[in-house]
Order: sequence, then structure tokens, then C-alpha cells
Amino acid sequence: MAEDEDKKKVQELTELLNRYNYEYYVLNQSSVSDQEFDRLMEELKTIEDRRPDLRSKLSPTTRVGGMVATGFTKVTHQTMMISLGDVFNEDELSHFYQSCEDGTGLIDLPFMGEVKIDGLAMSLIYENGELQMAATRGDGVVGEDVTANVLTIPSIPVHIKDKRHIEVRGEVYMSKATLKKLNEERAKNGEPLLANARNAAAGSIRQLDSRITASRHLDAFWYYFQNAEECGFKNHSDSLDYLQELGFVTNKERKRIHGLKGIMDYVAEYTAKRPSLGYDIDGLVFKVDSLHLHDVLGYTMKTPKWAIAYKFPPEEVITKLTDIVLTVGRTGRVTPNAILEPVRVAGSLIGRATLNNEDFIHNLDIRIGDYVALHKAGDVIPEVAKVIMERRDPNSVPFHFPETCPYCGTRLVKSESDIQHRCPNDQCPSRSINKLIWFASDGGMDIDGLGDTMVENLFNEKLVLDIPDFYRLKDHQEEIMLMDGVGEKTCTSIFQAIEKSKGNTLEMLLAGLGIPLVGKKTAKILAQHYLDLDKLRQTSLEELEGLQDVGEKTAKIILSYFNDERNIHMLEDLRALGLNFRCLTLSAQKEGGNFFAGKKFVLTGSLASSGRKEMTERLEALGGISSESVSKMTDLVIVGTDPGSKFTKAQALGIRIMQEDELLEKLKEIEGGK
Ligand code: NAD
Repeated sequence: MAEDEDKKKVQELTELLNRYNYEYYVLNQSSVSDQEFDRLMEELKTIEDRRPDLRSKLSPTTRVGGMVATGFTKVTHQTMMISLGDVFNEDELSHFYQSCEDGTGLIDLPFMGEVKIDGLAMSLIYENGELQMAATRGDGVVGEDVTANVLTIPSIPVHIKDKRHIEVRGEVYMSKATLKKLNEERAKNGEPLLANARNAAAGSIRQLDSRITASRHLDAFWYYFQNAEECGFKNHSDSLDYLQELGFVTNKERKRIHGLKGIMDYVAEYTAKRPSLGYDIDGLVFKVDSLHLHDVLGYTMKTPKWAIAYKFPPEEVITKLTDIVLTVGRTGRVTPNAILEPVRVAGSLIGRATLNNEDFIHNLDIRIGDYVALHKAGDVIPEVAKVIMERRDPNSVPFHFPETCPYCGTRLVKSESDIQHRCPNDQCPSRSINKLIWFASDGGMDIDGLGDTMVENLFNEKLVLDIPDFYRLKDHQEEIMLMDGVGEKTCTSIFQAIEKSKGNTLEMLLAGLGIPLVGKKTAKILAQHYLDLDKLRQTSLEELEGLQDVGEKTAKIILSYFNDERNIHMLEDLRALGLNFRCLTLSAQKEGGNFFAGKKFVLTGSLASSGRKEMTERLEALGGISSESVSKMTDLVIVGTDPGSKFTKAQALGIRIMQEDELLEKLKEIEGGK
């Protein structure tokens, strides 16, 4: 009987872990927390240790978790890219240390203590001093060639002075600041938030379009010189110093330590330092320093015996989930949210947490009335990690995801390829309110006095149902003044702010319209390229796709937005109400003409006369349009000393090149003649 139960449990856990691995490594999403995943893995390991007959060759406990996604060329690693064994407390860590002393017959072993960066593993191969290939770990044997995307990380050396065959391994990651910024932009654009830095980094590296990867501002730390011994090194620590000397960014938190005491001190120090680091770490890594001892200690099927990952316990607190409510964003995306008895997590008071989607609720079997453990995922979004089953009310019932929108009653839709429900009714009040809030917010037209509550009240009073209604508000002063907390003074200043917004730039208007996938950055690109909303409305798919940072999907969405009858009508209404549709300064400058106005320029190399950022701003002030990459659309490439590949590309494409002397001369002519 127990035997059958073990077998059933092993099957169940194997299926579950395989599915989570697929979601994590291929889809770059997680429907359970890492802690829950690790717990399930431990459960499977325990049964397999007790019942080795049930351990299959393909068990998730014996395989490196990753998989190779389609869309990239497959690469077989010269040496397998294995994972690390992990331990979850100090007892297990000292057990690991003991096994190293036992295995080598030495005491007080020197180790390297390192932080475990939460990103994705990457291998770089150099031949003759040149980067040949960057590959993901994949399943450890076969990875994906992601060279083009890895090259978007500026700190990665393309050339090194050492001409031998060299393989360097490390972690590509997204900094906390970048993730925060990206999520702020995504929130403004109504796009789903990136749940944590690891999934964000992995998703960014796996983009088929390198421009998207570039826009994610990834970085990398290099933590292992794969063929160091072959290149004459005796210790891992020395090989890392050498990588640093070759120009690789190595992590400065690494320390050479001795014995178990050194390991425990490092744990104490970095448990305390963790929150102050600029990137997420999910643990610490300890590696025997002597490379010779690596051979002595050897490997298991998927992990080295000379290194270990110590995983941090999650920072979590327990509270009661009192309700689950749905929010419907301006694009129709439906998000379930947990309403919680307020509790402090990592310094902030949390009364609400996202439950992501229906699968997330079902996988954790979250029910109203449950006590749940909360932890802060990826430093930004508090997340429900698990249900405290022992405290569950026996009368509780599973949560049924509503079939209709709570705001408009429309049946929710969910396509097979989507894990998210959507409200398809674009007249849905929740969608409309969020659209209006967005228009007035600082991501759009930045209209003072029109905060979220004010806009919501105006909508509920039926005074503003669509964007043009903001500009007719002054006809309703009496009704507005009947609203709570709105006096004559407030009313007047709101009217003034609304009136002033009519003259806002074209890019603010474009961002404010809330066209899906068109945030501030894309709005700026569109405004600078077309200079006039009417020109943009008449554009073609090819022209849109040719613009920097506008992919096929965004281009199609923009076209369909401007072809929608209701939008055409709404825009005509806005024009009649006197809103600015033109990129005034740029069009005036282009027509009036200074040399840089309307020209797309790229700066490469360093300038003697000023910093690149300052020069870019100076040229933008003259109407120049700065760009990061050289393409056929570039008008001008300005070259300083030590220019990079952009210079070569510009020459190949026959683009006008300008040296710094000529640039300064031109600036003198223009600015002197003001
Ligand atoms: P791992 O994260 O436990 O450790 C190995 C990895 O650590 C290496 O491959 C390397 O990429 C990284 N690393 C970071 N800093 C390092 C350093 N200084 N030195 C050496 N390596 C360093 O192993 P894994 O196989 O990459 O991932 C498994 C883990 O991923 C699981 O334990 C779980 O936490 C998580 N996971 C979660 C889900 C989910 O659904 N939530 C699914 C699969 C995996």
C-alpha cells in the first residue's frame, strides 16, 4: 500500500516539477514561488533516497532544470554546464563543509564565498582574443546561441588581450533599479508587470529581437573561468582576479575565506548586506578555492561536490486573506488581488497583493479566509507564497474564478495562449476609468488636479466618460462644485490645468491616448519621426516597423488604433477642441532649418569637448533625434576617439560621418548665430 502511495507521489511530483521547470526556463514565468519549488524538489529527493527503485533516469532530481527554447540555434557545450547543489540552513551547510574535509583529507580548507546572483547562467567562448559565442545553459548539455542579445550588454568585452581558447561563465541579471523602472513603465502602459528580476532577465535574453533585449538594460557578473587550470591557474580566486584584469566584470563581494568559521561569518555578513545590494541575490555560493581539489572531490550527476549554494530563507510573514477582488486595467487585462489584513513585510505595510492569474490561485489552492504566507518577490511586488493549510477553516470552499467582469457583466475571455483573463468590452467602466486616469496622469498629459480619485468621481458623476469630455468640463462647474471637497478655487485651477494641457507636446498626447504598447518612449519616437499626428495616422506598416524600438506587434496595434472608427471620431473631437497635434519645435526647426534639426544621429566613441550625455542633450535641443544604434534610417554618425562597431557599420551603410572638429564648428555656426 505504502509502496503504491510512494509511486503515485513520485509520479505526481515529477509531473509537477517538470511543468514548473518548463514554465520557469522556457516561458520565464513561475506559477509557484522558488521556495515552494525547492520544497517539492526536496520532497521528491527524500522519497527517492528512501526508494531508489523509484528514481527514473529522467527524474527532475537528476537533471539540470533548463530546456532549450525554439527560435535560437542550439549549441552543445564543450563542458557540461551543471547546476549547484543547494542547502537551506546552517546545519546542512556545515554538513557540506564536512564532506569537503572528508573528501580531501584536509582541514581548514580555503573557500571562496560569493553572492548567488539571481539571473540566468551564461557561457562566453573566446578564441584568438575575440568573443565567438554566448550561450545559455539550456539543459546543461545543449544551450541556445544568444550572442546577438548578449552583445547588447555594454560591459561584456568583445575583445580580450589573451589569445588562448577561453571559456568564462557567469550570470546575466537585471538590477533592482532597472526592474523597478521597467515595471513603472509597464504599469503605465497597462502591460503585465515582471514578477522578479530573474524571470525578467531570462525573458529579455530570450527575445528574438535584440532591440528589445537592449531596451532591458541587462548586466552580467562573471564568476567562473571554465578552463582556468588548463590556462595555468591553481586557485579559483586567482582565476577570477585574472578575468577582472581581462576586462570582465567580476563581483566585488567575493571573499577568500577559511574553514567553516569563514563560511558562517560570510553567511552572517551577507544575510545582513543583501537588501543593500543593487541586484537580487537568492543565496550565497561557496566554492573550494583550489582547482586541484575540484578534481579530487569530483561531481554528482548534475552538481559539483566542491561547491554549494546556500539559499536564503524567504522573508515572509503570515496574515489572513479576507477577500479576492478583480481589477480590470485599461487594456482589459483582469488581475485577481488578495485583500489582506494589513501586515508589515520588508518594511512596508501590505494590505493587498497580486494573485497574478487563475492558475496561480489554483496551484496554491488559495481560498477566501485562508491564512497565507507573504513574501516580497524581487524586491518590488509582495506575493502570496503559500497557504498555511494547518490554519484553514474546514468549511472553506475553493475559489471559483468569476466568469463575468465585475464592472460590466461581460463574459471574460481567455485564449489558449494566455494565462490571463480579459474583459473584451472596451466600454467597460473599469477600463474606461483607467484609460481616463492614464490620460491625465504624468505618464500622459500630466494634468494637475486630476488624480485617480478625482477622475473616478468625474466618471461616476457622468461628467467625463471619454477623453474629450475633460475639455468640456468647464461647462459643468456647478455640478463639479457639488462633488465632495471641490471648492471654487480647486475648480478654477483644474480648468486652468486642462486648458494648459491643450498645448502639450505631441508625444505627451500620444502617450496619453493609451494605445497598447505605446508608452512614453515609443510616443517620443513616433512624435519625432512623424512630427504631426495626421501624418502618423496615414502611415504604413512598413514605415512603422522600420522605426527604432517599434516591433511588428506594436506597429500593427498602432495601425489598428488609428483605423478604429471610435478613435477617429475621438481624435477629430480633440482637434476641434483645440489640442495640439504637431511636434511644434521640431517641425519649426526642420522647416526653418538648422543643420541638426530633424536629423537622426548616433554618437560613438568619446568626445574630448564634453560627455556623450551632455552632447546628446545639446543636439536634441537643436532638434536632433538621438539613437543608440546605426541603421539605414540614421542621418549622421558623430565619431569621437575609439569609436565602436557603430562607426564601421556607418561606413558600410554609407552614412554621413562627422568628426568632433566638424561637429564643434557646426555648433559654433548655429549657436553663435542665435
Ligand atoms: P540554482 O539556482 O539553485 O543554482 C545554480 C545557478 O546559480 C547556476 O547555474 C548559476 O546560474 C547561478 N549562480 C549565481 N551566482 C553564482 C555564483 N557566484 N557562482 C556559481 N553559480 C552562480 O540552480 P538552477 O538549476 O539554476 O535553478 C534551480 C532553482 O530555480 C530552483 O532551486 C528554484 O529555486 C528555481 N526554480 C523555480 C521554479 C518555479 O517554478 N518557481 C522552477 C524551476 C526552478
